[in-house]
Amino acid sequence: MNYQAYLRTPHWRATRLRKLATAKHQCEFRRDGRGPRCQARLGLQVHHRHYRSIGRENDLDLELLCPDHHRERHGLNQVELAS
Ligand SMILES: [Zn+2]
Ligand SMILES: [Zn+2]
Repeated sequence: MNYQAYLRTPHWRATRLRKLATAKHQCEFRRDGRGPRCQARLGLQVHHRHYRSIGRENDLDLELLCPDHHRERHGLNQVELAS
């Protein structure tokens, strides 16, 4: 299964909903990993910090991000592909 297909599976949808809940529906981005947490709550996307655990992600493998910070994450790390 390719990655785009994986993102449409019930497993991923459930994982995504769990992440939304544990992150309390708020962007988790912090400047330098320390600054105050971003306050955005709209259009949140679940980002993979890495792709080593696809299909068995835990919450630490994922980061809930607003669209701006999701773009920034991928801008800073071009190695990543999508989501
Ligand atoms: Zn944000
Ligand atoms: Zn991403």
